[in-house]
Amino acid sequence: MEKKTFVTLEQLKEIDKTYPTPYHLYDEKGIRENAKRLYDAFSWNKGFKEYFAVKATPNPFIINILKECGCGVDCSSLTELMMAEKLGFRDDGIMFSSNDTPAEEFVLAKKLGAQINLDDFTHIDFMNEVADGLPETMCLRFNPGGEFKISTTIMDNPGDAKYGLTKEQLIEGYKKLKELGVKKFGLHAFLASNTVTNEYYPTLAKIMFETAVEVKEKTGVEISFINLSGGVGIPYRPDQEPNDIKVIGEGVRKVFEEVLVPAGLGDVAIYTELGRFMLGPYGCLVTKAIHEKHIHKEYIGLDACAVNLMRPAMYGAYHHITVMGKENEPCDHKYDITGSLCENNDKFAVDRMLPKIDIGDFIVIHDTGAHGFAMGYNYNGKLKSAELLLQEDGSVKMIRRAETPADYFATFDFCDILK
Ligand SMILES: *Cc1c(COP(=O)(O)O)cnc(C)c1O
Repeated sequence: MEKKTFVTLEQLKEIDKTYPTPYHLYDEKGIRENAKRLYDAFSWNKGFKEYFAVKATPNPFIINILKECGCGVDCSSLTELMMAEKLGFRDDGIMFSSNDTPAEEFVLAKKLGAQINLDDFTHIDFMNEVADGLPETMCLRFNPGGEFKISTTIMDNPGDAKYGLTKEQLIEGYKKLKELGVKKFGLHAFLASNTVTNEYYPTLAKIMFETAVEVKEKTGVEISFINLSGGVGIPYRPDQEPNDIKVIGEGVRKVFEEVLVPAGLGDVAIYTELGRFMLGPYGCLVTKAIHEKHIHKEYIGLDACAVNLMRPAMYGAYHHITVMGKENEPCDHKYDITGSLCENNDKFAVDRMLPKIDIGDFIVIHDTGAHGFAMGYNYNGKLKSAELLLQEDGSVKMIRRAETPADYFATFDFCDILK
């Protein structure tokens, strides 16, 4: 499928009068329409709710848009919980799915009434102690081990993942929670990441639904919600077929009717904790070409670097690139598109065929709306960029300013050194 930018060259030139590149730009209309498609796809399930994985795009303006679309938040750290609190999320508006969890995070999550998802059997006693008792609602995270397969294709390796409880621990865990006074129970699992297939959720759902039935038989505990978590992916590459959320929702419904309904568990609410699927395609990194270099290879240097988008440097991830205004020109130049870090892996693309790039061209890097800005850091003393929102009426709003050198120097005081 041809990958198009959600912003035009004319719009970028207009934005350029106020905001310098680089910046992350988000598409409000795209975000809202996609959230609506998700809710439509699961409208068959009475308690359905999406808890947006805050870590993917921890911007309060974005999260507030999703809140207006009916979403809650999935938090996994102290500051994510604090952001949720400030935005007015409470109780069943929050999932807290963390691991290796510090005591203070359990305390705050309990105070907010969040639905807490424990990552380990030992966390039952740990939380009971540090948070002075467990809340009425608790969730457990399942790790079935082995390989996660869809027909014969290995999607991921839960057996090597640090997350979750084994089946035996899960059974014992629900018994223990019940003894400790818990009244409402959830089941959670996240078994494969960035899946570009409509089969992931239905396959996962079958495993989880059968597990819920087994839990009921062995412990008498009736699960109230099943959290399919994240992992529904997006087509980063033009040759990938996008997921069809309607087909995914129907696939989950079929398994629900086959497994849960006959077991008397037809009231189970389905939760999701999607990050990438909710935001990935609705954000891009807008940069300009500032240098060209001809040595053993052809290089184009951008005004952005891995600090703004780490995925290519970190995982060798593909991000599509559009040279704005040259969409219809032949891709007859082979470039490495680089950032400015003193790290040879700071390349947004290697041997990418693109139209001829001139200095000053706007270069748009696609699909950075999730796990993009969020993964940024300050290596080489580089500063994080601004985040802008392209609103539904076509106007642009700054939703986070760019860092300044003062931000970078804010955590120590030169006077203490030079006194
Ligand atoms: C990262 C994460 C998510 C979101 O994953 P995506 O791949 O962005 O959908 C959801 N739940 C948990 C617990 C996570 O750690």
